[in-house]
Amino acid sequence: MTQPSPIPWHQKAYVCVHIFEDTRPVLLVSRNGGAWSLLCGHGHDDIMLGAKVVGIGHILDRDPTILPLLDLPAGWEAERETPTGDWVRRPPPESESLPPEAVAVNESVKIRFTLEKDEDGYPPFTSERLWARKLGEDLYEIDNIPFFVRDLSLGDRVSAEAAEAGVFVFRGMGERSSNSTIRVFVIREEVRPTLFGEIEKSGAEYELGAVPDMVAINIPVNSDVAGLLRYLDQASREKSLEYEEAAPRYALPVN
Ligand SMILES: [Zn+2]
Repeated sequence: MTQPSPIPWHQKAYVCVHIFEDTRPVLLVSRNGGAWSLLCGHGHDDIMLGAKVVGIGHILDRDPTILPLLDLPAGWEAERETPTGDWVRRPPPESESLPPEAVAVNESVKIRFTLEKDEDGYPPFTSERLWARKLGEDLYEIDNIPFFVRDLSLGDRVSAEAAEAGVFVFRGMGERSSNSTIRVFVIREEVRPTLFGEIEKSGAEYELGAVPDMVAINIPVNSDVAGLLRYLDQASREKSLEYEEAAPRYALPVN
């Protein structure tokens, strides 16, 4: 690093366990309360329970794409969707509690869904935050492919309400879309090109999240779901991946 930074290299920063262990990229930088927090951004609410303190320089050495944020003012946040994506800066919320009425129709908010763990402790998070678009009153349409919430798909309508500042929480299901959701856990990295090709060929779409080995697939009603499932089935028998039909709404032809 030849460029001098405006903050000392040993400046204390809070990181979640995933950043500490270098198992996930930094997707959220928060100056909430003035402190520096570098987080994976994947919606764990118990973040500070597992928080570690490191010198910020260690993380910047590892990931120089955080350097442009060193002028982030206290109270601000910056977030990016992927490790190579553009940082989006957000000023501190104007009031302590943001009423739902403050969000205009068609604006996007993040809605927090509480996750229930199964007997194996899966999923490894207490909540998942998903983008949603306001339709009216307290009605929102899901704008992400869910990675963990069960029986939820892109385009589903949900009710939500403002909790603390800027955070909306899921209250109930509204009308479900005709989209189905499948999640894939990549076991052999080299399967990715074929997997992505098969998804696109079937007419489905996918999202990659902060969990590096997961792929969330959205399957619109007119996709070749039978063909996609055939591929997934074969690839899982070859131990290249595992998959979960998280919100299956397709009717498969009987044959
Ligand atoms: Zn994390």
